[in-house]
Amino acid sequence: MSTIFTKIINREIPADIVHEDDWCLAFRDVNPQAPTHVLLIPKKEIPRLMDAKAQDAALLGHLMLTANKIAQQLGVGDAFRLAVNNGAGAGQSVFHLHLHILAGRKFSWPPG
Ligand code: AMP
Repeated sequence: MSTIFTKIINREIPADIVHEDDWCLAFRDVNPQAPTHVLLIPKKEIPRLMDAKAQDAALLGHLMLTANKIAQQLGVGDAFRLAVNNGAGAGQSVFHLHLHILAGRKFSWPPG
């Protein structure tokens, strides 16, 4: 089932887009949890990480490399955190796979 993120991909609703290529799109989170908070999503509709298949390996690798590229471009390349919430119990609220790229403040460990 499509989510609001598909509407952002299709430009049906606005977003502050910071990166786009054939495989993915990145835009600023509307409710930022850090000074830099970007969501990186595949254009392919994969609801949760657990729904990804072996044939998505190249796409998943591309997302990781692109997350790093975006962090470098945004000037936070030396200190950023990636987070993926898989499932409602882990805090996932939009069921379209996304990487949170968070930076610009201290992050505690273990995460909350
Ligand atoms: P998660 O809780 O891991 O599923 O993360 C979903 C994220 O999407 C939250 O951080 C929301 O603030 C963010 N979000 C929801 N709708 C939008 C939107 N229209 N534009 C940008 N970010 C959004």
